[in-house]
Amino acid sequence: MIFRLQAGTPADKVQELRARLESEGVRTRLSPESARPIFAAVDKASATLVEELQQDAAVEEVITPKGAWRLAARAFRENPQVVQVGDVRIGGGSVCVMAGPCSVDEHLEEAAAGVKAAGAHILRGGAYKPRTSPYAFQGFGVEGLRRLKDAGNANGLPVVSEIMDAAQLPAFIDHDIECLQIGARNMQNFTLLKAIGEAGIPVLLKRALSGTVDEWLYSAEYILAYGCSQVILCERGIRTYETATRNTLDLTVLPLLRELTHLPIVVDPAHAVGVARFIAPLARASVAAGADGLTVEMHPDPTVARSDADQALLPNELSSLVADARVMSAVTGRSLA
Ligand code: PEP
Ligand code: MN
Repeated sequence: MIFRLQAGTPADKVQELRARLESEGVRTRLSPESARPIFAAVDKASATLVEELQQDAAVEEVITPKGAWRLAARAFRENPQVVQVGDVRIGGGSVCVMAGPCSVDEHLEEAAAGVKAAGAHILRGGAYKPRTSPYAFQGFGVEGLRRLKDAGNANGLPVVSEIMDAAQLPAFIDHDIECLQIGARNMQNFTLLKAIGEAGIPVLLKRALSGTVDEWLYSAEYILAYGCSQVILCERGIRTYETATRNTLDLTVLPLLRELTHLPIVVDPAHAVGVARFIAPLARASVAAGADGLTVEMHPDPTVARSDADQALLPNELSSLVADARVMSAVTGRSLA
């Protein structure tokens, strides 16, 4: 349940209302929203208590979100959340492009320069890779993080990289990785979600291979509940009966999530379709449908990429994708970050 108070309600009044709930064992969380005080009741409050609070002149409205998530709910904020990764703003009308190789490899430095030249905003690259086969390349680990960060610094780009285990967190912090990616396979690794929530670093939360919208929002709620308010949702294709493409890109979530949550939403058309030549139209469609950003894979020489070679764009293809994103942002009344 979310309590939205009148703008200008003094802090001691907010405290009084929260204390009333807390006195009945209902935990509350204050929204970071500044336009007006908003707080969520984390636990279920009795109908009589809610009625009592609703009578208070300071309470403008009490909203029950569609699902049981609270901090991720649209009503928990007055305005959509803007997540800041380095100096790049994502959401609230600012559209960003994240790009880089699937795995950090020997060509990373060249790839990073291409990402910058294309006008993309954030450099991606996996140092810890979740691979279906234990015999496939598993990533360069800490060495990969170091190379990614160096390449980001050399080009003035913040970086995003996948974290697979809470034990890897100190390495991500030491290397000042600006955004932690939770991969599809770890969307419901609750131990990991709690740990990264406590770390407070911005998070790119990918949708699980068969994750429902509810499950995805609950995973976001874990990160928010454990202390990190900087969460970006990432649609990356779901598993359906269709096998003609790698996955099925679910753009229906864009308008739906806009109603359900204040969090920014990025689309990864690469892992959805799995084929480089099909990425451009899906990227355009994603921005047209309201995505706050795109994340794609790019490699200067896909034939030697250590993972996801089939879906790697070439540097010049990334440039046209960024140009398309600029046009589609403008068409929808927004602009590139
Ligand atoms: C990736 O971004 O390279 C990746 C493994 O993505 P996902 O978790 O969506 O499969
Ligand atoms: Mn990949």
